[in-house]
Amino acid sequence: MNILVINAGSSSLKYQLFEIGKEEVLAKGLVERIGIEGSKLTHTAKGKEKLEITEPMSDHKQAMGYVLRALTDKQYGIIKDMDEINAVGHRVLHAAEKFSDSVVINDAVMDAIRDCIKFGPLHNPANLMGIEACRATMPNTPMVAVFDTAFHQTMPKKAYLYGLSYDAYKEHGIRRYGFHGTSHKYVASRMPALMGKDKKDLKLIICHLGNGSSLSAVDGGKCVDTSMGLTPLAGVVMGTRCGDIDPAIVPHLMKEMKLDSDQMSDYMNKKCGVLGLSGISSDFRDLSKAAAEGSERAEMALEVFAYSVKKYIGAYAAAMGGVNAIVFTAGIGENDSNMRARCCEGLEFLGVKLDGELNKIRGKEQRISAPDSRVEVWCVPTNEELMIAMDTYELCK
Ligand code: AMP
Repeated sequence: MNILVINAGSSSLKYQLFEIGKEEVLAKGLVERIGIEGSKLTHTAKGKEKLEITEPMSDHKQAMGYVLRALTDKQYGIIKDMDEINAVGHRVLHAAEKFSDSVVINDAVMDAIRDCIKFGPLHNPANLMGIEACRATMPNTPMVAVFDTAFHQTMPKKAYLYGLSYDAYKEHGIRRYGFHGTSHKYVASRMPALMGKDKKDLKLIICHLGNGSSLSAVDGGKCVDTSMGLTPLAGVVMGTRCGDIDPAIVPHLMKEMKLDSDQMSDYMNKKCGVLGLSGISSDFRDLSKAAAEGSERAEMALEVFAYSVKKYIGAYAAAMGGVNAIVFTAGIGENDSNMRARCCEGLEFLGVKLDGELNKIRGKEQRISAPDSRVEVWCVPTNEELMIAMDTYELCK
């Protein structure tokens, strides 16, 4: 069974075609600058040469047409015609409380995604455009929505309620939803096999550390808490996002810096985090290099980041009454051994003992704690696309 996975942004469309059974990627690609001058498709299929097309693409539907032509192209493609795509899985950001799992898309699901635009104003409209483009070009192919929020729907009320008025939750839906759910779910699903334990016996702290970062506490396979909130702005300090701050800072800075609410939101999303702290970059490779060359601000930004991750690890160990494994994933978690070590520094009291040699690895599934570490520490590369493909397969097989 072939499953096409689509991740649509406002001006981009990423895709991967999986062959389920072999869990193999047959082809993948990216359309950039949709609706903007310089639209471009980059496509690679297994065993074929790379294809690049620079043609005007005014909307997602037109972009999808190019993707299907690339997938079925005699020279660059991998399938004969689009009937060989058995189902399509779409990444969707926000489902609020409407869905706690992936779902086959119908008109009611489209309406539900539309209803959640208020919580995901940048992503949900783009995700909808991606779905609409696929439904228009492949009207008979089943489609599935896989939500970033779904995995976190198992959180108990004590974890998802804010200390606001209860009306804010009941009337306006203001609560912690959490994000990166597909990644947390994928990594959590790998751990029982990797650790040789039953999932019901595992308390996991999953650290998805990338450009956006979030941690989750997963007890018995279910998410019981997560660091992002109503939106992906909350939690640990991130590349360009501020993470948790005193809420009184918002009106204060709006007055001081003369910003309206959109400008304030833009500031907190794009100009803060380790970028704002260092004044250098949001990329941890640049920061590590700058710190090694003596930049105090780069070093300070790295320290603030590591400290904020460590505090969440401590909080989640307390929330679950223990922890069996801490797992690092995503760009930083998979590649940055120094940052992994910094996040674990001082956690010996919890039973965490990293193995310096094992921790040197990058981008591979491996235990990185010492054999006598009471809490295991792991590096597990995430695979959100595969998780979306597997969920789609389960619903459409
Ligand atoms: P992601 O959002 O998961 O794609 O992660 C992207 C981030 O991972 C980048 O902004 C970098 O900060 C970080 N990253 C990727 N590779 C490395 C590396 N080799 N060392 C340190 N950080 C890295």
